[in-house]
Amino acid sequence: MIQVTEGVYFIQGQDEMIPDSHVYVVGKPDSQDLSLIDAGLMGKGNYKIESILNMGIELKAIARIIMTHTHLDHIGCLAEIREQIPWAELWVHDIEAGPLEEGDERTVYGMEMFQSMCMMQYSLKPGAFTFYVDRRLQGEENLDIGGMTWEVLHIPGHSPGSIGLYNRQEKILIPGDVVYADYAIGRFDLHGADASELKNSLLQLAKLEVNILLPGHNRIVKDLPAGYIAETAKQWAPYLT
Ligand SMILES: [Zn+2]
Ligand SMILES: [Zn+2]
Repeated sequence: MIQVTEGVYFIQGQDEMIPDSHVYVVGKPDSQDLSLIDAGLMGKGNYKIESILNMGIELKAIARIIMTHTHLDHIGCLAEIREQIPWAELWVHDIEAGPLEEGDERTVYGMEMFQSMCMMQYSLKPGAFTFYVDRRLQGEENLDIGGMTWEVLHIPGHSPGSIGLYNRQEKILIPGDVVYADYAIGRFDLHGADASELKNSLLQLAKLEVNILLPGHNRIVKDLPAGYIAETAKQWAPYLT
């Protein structure tokens, strides 16, 4: 785990056959009000927890887990992590919170073929990804958490309840799987995905001043060129109709 800036730590995903999402820990170290952003793939819970401990962060300082969205590579080890921090609240966008509480796993797995493959490979039972959601995010909230302010942006398209978290002071964007480094964007062929919504979400993000881009996968960028997201949206526009 590395410190990106004061109050933002990065735990790199350990990809296997299926990717493992990165985890970010946000909040000022002495706030005792830290948040984990996303969890990761099945079996990666201990790795994520150990990375946090190795950084000298006490588990009791973690108050919540905020999901950028509920795809399997982000939520797979949520239960493993919560076993070690059972007090941590779970915050998810409203649109994906309902299915999560009802045990509707279509968004988690994204497509039926992938679901049967994963259930077999990881011995998952139906309903394995049923969680109570403590707070349903809507978008446009300002979260005052861990001594920092993070704006919630509803940016659907990759999944219906995808959110981004934006820190305006430091110009940090955590966009989940909506936009990555190197002009890549999230896939838009899974359950609940929508290409034109993704285009609008990219255009929404393009309005922000972003210096530090912290996506769900692949490399992070600390000195993002001005206009990067607008350029990415432009390159992908022909495919997003
Ligand atoms: Zn995803
Ligand atoms: Zn992902």
